[in-house]
Amino acid sequence: LSLSEFDVIAKYFSRARASGTGVVFGIGDDAAIIRPRNGIELVVSADVLNENVHFPANTPARAIGHKALAVNLSDIAAMGAEPFCFTVTLSLPTIDEAWLGDFSTGLFEIADSYGVELIGGDTVRGPLSVAIQIIGQVAPGMALRRSGARNGDKIYVSGTLGDGAAALELLNTGSTVPVGLQSKLDFPQPRTELGRQLLGLATSCIDISDGVLADLNHILAASEVSGFVDVDKLPLSDELAQLDLPGKQGLVLAGGDDYELCFTVPEDRVHQLESISRELGCRLTCIGEIAVGSGLQLRQFGKIIAGKPVTGFDHFPD
Ligand code: ADP
Ligand code: MG
Repeated sequence: LSLSEFDVIAKYFSRARASGTGVVFGIGDDAAIIRPRNGIELVVSADVLNENVHFPANTPARAIGHKALAVNLSDIAAMGAEPFCFTVTLSLPTIDEAWLGDFSTGLFEIADSYGVELIGGDTVRGPLSVAIQIIGQVAPGMALRRSGARNGDKIYVSGTLGDGAAALELLNTGSTVPVGLQSKLDFPQPRTELGRQLLGLATSCIDISDGVLADLNHILAASEVSGFVDVDKLPLSDELAQLDLPGKQGLVLAGGDDYELCFTVPEDRVHQLESISRELGCRLTCIGEIAVGSGLQLRQFGKIIAGKPVTGFDHFPD
């Protein structure tokens, strides 16, 4: 006998809760009750993952659970906020208990490791889709915005770029995917600790979900500045560097699925990044600089190179 909607919620999504987390009442009423810390600002974001759009149909359920929350945590990271709580709206074609078990395992593994609590959601029948809304907390006026980059600031990225996009490309062409790249695609680790350390240090920040060029372009537009990106300085993982893959640079620049942070720092503050990088064990790489004007230009070994028009992933291309 198949479980009802309410059995599904009780069996897979309701858990005993820690007290003192700021969640006054979570799952089980018409709405959750939350109490932010005194004098804090809330940041709110939502992201949906649809089968065959955001993940291939055969993606393991544990990876879907992880990634659905990871992409939302990445937005919280980009604001420099501390993750607080989230809701899950689940559309399921059928009640598949093996799938639900693996999905909720992946979801709660990452929720626990980032200290963020599930407070509610909705469960409906339909094509497979996972929509998460997340709430974070940040000191008033301190949230990192896209709009603060200034002439002369250095442009940085965390971690390495292109791994997830390369994994997807290999999957789509039926090739073997190196384990490190597969895990970057399925189990991205959003940079919430880094985001919080960048408060008062970075002048702008965005998370890289659509490719570094497209996302950096959002910073340039919001800040009304231009930027140079040094393509010879882009950080690649050893696995991606060793891979013989046509169009690799395009994937690194515009492939998406990185969930790293791209941020700008005034030159006289960049020395502060070294200890942050060491403490977090997170590579931080200067990939270019901000200038006056508008637009983005690519450089290689210091010389401007003609680039294709910069576009990232777009759900509704012309
Ligand atoms: P309503 O009919 O008032 O929308 P539901 O019966 O849909 O309430 O939900 C009952 C409770 O279960 C609510 O607290 C809701 O937030 C929670 N809930 C529903 N689906 C999920 C889910 N997938 N994950 C976590 N909580 C859920
Ligand atoms: Mg409901």
